[in-house]
Amino acid sequence: MKYISTRGNVEAIGFIDTVMMGLANDGGLLIPEKIPQIPAEKLKEMSQLTYQELAYEIISYYVAGEIPADELKELINKSYATFRDPEVTPVKKVKDNMYVLELFHGPTFAFKDVALQFLGNLYSYIFKKTGETINILGATSGDTGASAIEGVRGKDGIRICILHPHGRVSKVQELQMTTVHDESVLNLAIKGTFDDGQRIIKELFADLEFKNKYSLRAINSINFARILAQTVYYFYAYFQVTKAGDIKSLNFSVPTGNFGDIFAGFLAKRMGLPIGKLIVATNENNILERFIKDGVYKPGEFRSTYSPSMDIQVASNFERYLYYLLDENAKEVSALMDQFKAEGQIVVGETQLRQVQADFAAHGVAGEDCLKTISKYYNETGYLLDPHTSCGVAAYETCSAPEEVCVTLATAHPAKFNESISLCDIEQIYPEQINQLFEKPQYLEVVEADNDVIASRLEKHFNTSVAQ
Ligand SMILES: *Cc1c(COP(=O)(O)O)cnc(C)c1O
Repeated sequence: MKYISTRGNVEAIGFIDTVMMGLANDGGLLIPEKIPQIPAEKLKEMSQLTYQELAYEIISYYVAGEIPADELKELINKSYATFRDPEVTPVKKVKDNMYVLELFHGPTFAFKDVALQFLGNLYSYIFKKTGETINILGATSGDTGASAIEGVRGKDGIRICILHPHGRVSKVQELQMTTVHDESVLNLAIKGTFDDGQRIIKELFADLEFKNKYSLRAINSINFARILAQTVYYFYAYFQVTKAGDIKSLNFSVPTGNFGDIFAGFLAKRMGLPIGKLIVATNENNILERFIKDGVYKPGEFRSTYSPSMDIQVASNFERYLYYLLDENAKEVSALMDQFKAEGQIVVGETQLRQVQADFAAHGVAGEDCLKTISKYYNETGYLLDPHTSCGVAAYETCSAPEEVCVTLATAHPAKFNESISLCDIEQIYPEQINQLFEKPQYLEVVEADNDVIASRLEKHFNTSVAQ
């Protein structure tokens, strides 16, 4: 198994090199040269496995022997031992034909933990094997930051810097990131949006001299290892729901920002999992909804919403999908991405648009509908949705026919977003781990959203701080 770039200018590399490279050196995203196909017989066997066993089977296709079996098993077990639910990602039935896949039982109460507990342990494993420097640089819309810090804190040889948009994350998200007091952790609150943060880190990663000098590593979903870890729960959820009855196909509704989570679903489908519709649920930052409906990919005006982790205009992983849409033609992807940079939009033709609509359904959820959906489900079923999951459920209601069965990905615990929940006149009880955060001092620096300012702060952090 080798990995190549969506833009075609990186020589094929192995799994560990792919994890370490993060963003492809030609500015593209790394993808497997060939997507492994899982035969129906094998799927049947897999349906009996525990979450950890299943993760091992699926991840093995992609690691392809670069990590010995017993060590990979141990790495996976360690990653999911930190989850509060023995099933790791349990599936709950909310009403007939409607399920939620609870992805928030990890240390920071959001789905990012599923991939970042794994990636943190993977980096630690690579450091122990190779002694290579691991200086992590990431941008967050709120959840990745805390989850990445939680994934690497206390691990030898790893330093981390996270950029978050100052004042645009929820209180609990901010506390989770900034109350970790550790010399190897640096939180920069930038005066700007998530898109600014994501652009800055992408530009710093694209500056190969800087990237190599400081051994920058990625924890954003530009890193293929994150996508890989996330494919596992599509399989797991599929098996749990179909075990219960004779279901021909199953839809998934996915609260979407950077297109990472839904791309993992797309990958699972390409591997042979018989998924029905993949529903892209967005909030009012609905560039992806507009693309899927009209074939025009063009950022609109940034909006702050009740679901801040999805307040994203330019979706990094979209390029991975584009690669498959263009029949794996890296030259064309490259040309389109250049066009996007120059003209600020991508337009696809009729045939391609039909393909897009065969691959995805989409719905952008207005703020008001997000809150209404939270209230409705709380009153009718007693199930409390967080505002991101609520967008997923609202999109399920629009895009999945009543007779079809659908799983909505519950991407965060409602306690992380009490700002939105309280607007629905619902009083929730915080889990103890979240309550404790309010007592702790915060460590962060507010900086301009400027490449040079951030680069020089990074130089200091990555040069002088102790890596554990
Ligand atoms: C990150 C995040 C999303 C969006 O996931 P993508 O992979 O970026 O599309 C949705 N909901 C929550 C709670 C998140 O933290």
